[in-house]
Amino acid sequence: MGAVKCIGILTSGGDAPGMNAAIRAVTRTAIYNDLRVKGIYRGYKGLITDEIVEFKSQNVSNIIQLGGTILKTARCNEFTTPEGRKIAYETMQRHGIDALVVIGGDGSLTGARIFAQEYNIPCIGLPGTIDNDLYGTDTTIGYDTALNTILDAVDKIRDTATSHDRLFFVEVMGRDAGFLALNGAIASGAEAAIIPEFSTEVDQLEEFIKNGFRKSKNSSIVLVAESELTGGAMHYAERVKNEYPQYDVRVTILGHLQRGGSPTAHDRILASRLGAAAIDAIMEDQRNVMIGIENDEVVYVPFSKAIKNDKPIKRELVNVLRALSI
Ligand code: ADP
Repeated sequence: MGAVKCIGILTSGGDAPGMNAAIRAVTRTAIYNDLRVKGIYRGYKGLITDEIVEFKSQNVSNIIQLGGTILKTARCNEFTTPEGRKIAYETMQRHGIDALVVIGGDGSLTGARIFAQEYNIPCIGLPGTIDNDLYGTDTTIGYDTALNTILDAVDKIRDTATSHDRLFFVEVMGRDAGFLALNGAIASGAEAAIIPEFSTEVDQLEEFIKNGFRKSKNSSIVLVAESELTGGAMHYAERVKNEYPQYDVRVTILGHLQRGGSPTAHDRILASRLGAAAIDAIMEDQRNVMIGIENDEVVYVPFSKAIKNDKPIKRELVNVLRALSI
């Protein structure tokens, strides 16, 4: 093992259920291996404003079941400047922090990558985002919980959609990725998903009306990924009103409720494994990698790969949804 004695841990960017399970796993695995741990509050902002607390095992008691992040999270513009990162580095030095574990999405891991290169600090990233849009891991921390929240909501919407013979567009999160919309649609028995990945390929509304919205059905639910590329659920509702006025159309935007709630077993186990693996990686002198799990094995993914490569949507899933919605 290298000279690392004290690890700083932070959560950054969008919060995701399971981040607490990851904080707990990093903290306890580090202490188990005789490393010190410091909790950095509000993401990179805490490195600039010096909001740092020594973490003992008890600091992470009773949090595995909690949504959100006990370390809080923030977006920090100052950290995107060399001046801001210099202050962050000086704060780390004052606290004796010699390695960082960053839990967040692609923005946070981009920040970690730049910081690590600039100051030659070992940085390990954990994929924490409900969007599942990081390459090199089968799923990200929070994705499974968000998917289950979507199911719960769509099950309820279906009751009212069926009673009124309505067409519902349900907008879900995902930024520029369609994983939540597509898998949410399959799991909830929705009729279609409109996702950014196919936004330039086909007119997904036309396709849905043509293929999915059969005469045999009197209600229908379409999940729309919130994205500039799709235009969002309102855009499709307007189009239906103009182009297919025979349909009674409604919109539900699920919004931030998708980020909340107690993490599922899948996300707790994923976060625990990734958190433990982050400390293993530091002790193996790995640096500047994101930890992922692929095919049930822990993998180290260079930041450049995790961030830059667009994680592909499986065509098979699109075909499954189409076949099952007849
Ligand atoms: P997420 O991690 O969920 O994708 P953001 O994209 O908002 O969230 O990024 C979170 C934070 O990571 C930003 O507020 C900023 O502090 C840091 N960050 C993002 N991009 C960069 C960058 N290019 N350089 C330095 N820091 C960055």
